[in-house]
Amino acid sequence: MPAVVSLQEIHKIYSSGEVPVHAVRGVSLEIERGGFVAIMGSSGSGKSTLMNVLGCLDRPTKGSYLLDGIDVAGLDRNELADLRNQKLGFVFQGFNLLARTTARENVELPMLYGKRKFTADELHERAMKTLDIVGLSKRADHFPSQLSGGQQQRVAIARGLINDPQILLADEPTGNLDSKTSVEIMGVFQKLNDQGITIVMVTHELDIAQYCKRNLIMRDGRLVSDVQVTNRLNATEEMQKLIAAEAQAKLSD
Ligand code: ADP
Ligand code: MG
Repeated sequence: MPAVVSLQEIHKIYSSGEVPVHAVRGVSLEIERGGFVAIMGSSGSGKSTLMNVLGCLDRPTKGSYLLDGIDVAGLDRNELADLRNQKLGFVFQGFNLLARTTARENVELPMLYGKRKFTADELHERAMKTLDIVGLSKRADHFPSQLSGGQQQRVAIARGLINDPQILLADEPTGNLDSKTSVEIMGVFQKLNDQGITIVMVTHELDIAQYCKRNLIMRDGRLVSDVQVTNRLNATEEMQKLIAAEAQAKLSD
């Protein structure tokens, strides 16, 4: 089966400032359907830039990108936006939820921008379905401030899933979360990946990357390492260990 993502010699040069910045320098990469990839690398190594290219949020300066077999370079702005809507979902580090809007309404937002128009009932139904997938349907009417960090990130993931994407792109999705909540979120990702969604995420936490299937490392705009994860961590098991350790700690208090 052809790769869902195929990058050939991708370069990205930012030339808006006085000095051009060569942020991505010849990245070639294939990601198969059902892949679960962590991109690591120090700050400034080009991870977010590469994610923006993958997400069709920015165009490469040079190189080719086939997304699900479609050559992204041949598309105009509107076609690119449509492709993004059809195939991609996004999760960001800071959740980016609207504060005065309920969890359900936050999840509905991407559907309002799509080509297809939905009735209020359809919006409602689909939002509830994705909230259910992330285990939050009972909190649908809560505002972000009434939710924990992990719950807010679940809402953001549900929002990323609303258009039924093939690929979920997440830039440091556990960056603002404590370690236990991070494991919880990795559990949500593992479940989604088991259901067939391809996931590409940026993280700088080595242990978090161990929940993925494949680890890439970027340095100075280049991919310098690409390995399959051996002894992959299972979030459900790790969560049970954490809970058991907490109980043990309470007993010995
Ligand atoms: P990472 O996500 O790994 O921290 P980035 O992709 O954000 O790295 O940045 C890679 C390089 O590109 C950095 O040197 C950064 O300063 C630069 N850069 C990122 N975005 C822009 C932009 N919009 N304009 C100019 N330079 C940028
Ligand atoms: Mg970044």
